[in-house]
Amino acid sequence: MRKFAIGNWKMNGNIASLKMLGEVQAAQALSGVSVVICPPYPLLHAATLASNGSGVEIGAQSCHHLANGAHTGDVSSDLLADVGARYVIIGHSERRADHHESNSAVCAQFQSAKTAGLTPILCIGETQAERAAGRTIEVISSQLKASLPPQAQAFILAYEPIWAIGTGLIPSLDEIAQVHAFLAHQLAEICGSDSKISVLYGGSVKASNAAQIFALPHVDGALVGGASLAAKDFCPIVTALGHVQ
Ligand code: PEP
Repeated sequence: MRKFAIGNWKMNGNIASLKMLGEVQAAQALSGVSVVICPPYPLLHAATLASNGSGVEIGAQSCHHLANGAHTGDVSSDLLADVGARYVIIGHSERRADHHESNSAVCAQFQSAKTAGLTPILCIGETQAERAAGRTIEVISSQLKASLPPQAQAFILAYEPIWAIGTGLIPSLDEIAQVHAFLAHQLAEICGSDSKISVLYGGSVKASNAAQIFALPHVDGALVGGASLAAKDFCPIVTALGHVQ
């Protein structure tokens, strides 16, 4: 399975932050894993120019489900592709919460991303209360089924427990392994056993815990928020992923 280290800058960074791409490119080249950086919209074009010809690819953090039109403040998948983005995160829990994005809205974004030639990075995950109630598998299973269009192929899935995002908390290694084994099984059922969908873990991944998480079966890398903002934090994660190849 292809291994990915994906950095989600969220609403952080500026033009000067793009300087870190040089160090990330060096870490990527040494590790041999796939690296994607997802900066805020205004930085996308400069980021694609800065990463051109390197092994680091650029993604966006969301997209509108339509190709164009009267939607003030939104950005289409076509435009993301036009400025050189190759990936787009969809269904991140912060978008689901802040912008009330439902599974069906996420599904429509997925389709627009594919039509534009982008690879969707679909995020799913349970709340703390859902985990405490023993509903993790039920919740992520129904999110996955409702967020995927029929015949979905060639995407990335990120399992992100909502309570682990930006909190420094992570599930136990056994809990992560259990969810990833379930997702591998479910993706084989939905998309076919030869579909080769990489499944990433996301939520408080750092240089100090990355190697243990990456060593788990069915974990094909990480979606990284806070620790993707500085090369000194992100490059060791890329390196750790390279070591499990
Ligand atoms: C995320 O926002 O996708 C994320 C995983 O954030 P963090 O690494 O900061 O928990």
